[in-house]
Amino acid sequence: MTTDTAKRINYVRIEADQCKGCRLCVETCPTHCIVIGSKINKLGYQYARFETNACTACGLCFYACPEPGAITVYKDATPEEMAS
Ligand code: SF4
Ligand code: SF4
Repeated sequence: MTTDTAKRINYVRIEADQCKGCRLCVETCPTHCIVIGSKINKLGYQYARFETNACTACGLCFYACPEPGAITVYKDATPEEMAS
């Protein structure tokens, strides 16, 4: 049976222009969900990008990040939450 929860996934939003590319989230994530991309943000850093559906919403990347507001973790996010 299909339920609403079937459409939900764990999701991490990374604010590109608040990231300083320190890689702490990349190194911390136990399921390798975050990578540093090749694009440059307005601060001049190659910034982190959430890339996979293997996220467990553990929050470790959030706690590792030194930049307040750069990372938001959503557990069982709806498509609407991911698009907002
Ligand atoms: S919440 Fe946990 S599993 Fe998800 S990206 Fe962050 S560190 Fe990785
Ligand atoms: S820990 Fe924060 S500042 Fe460092 S790369 Fe990840 S999102 Fe960017």
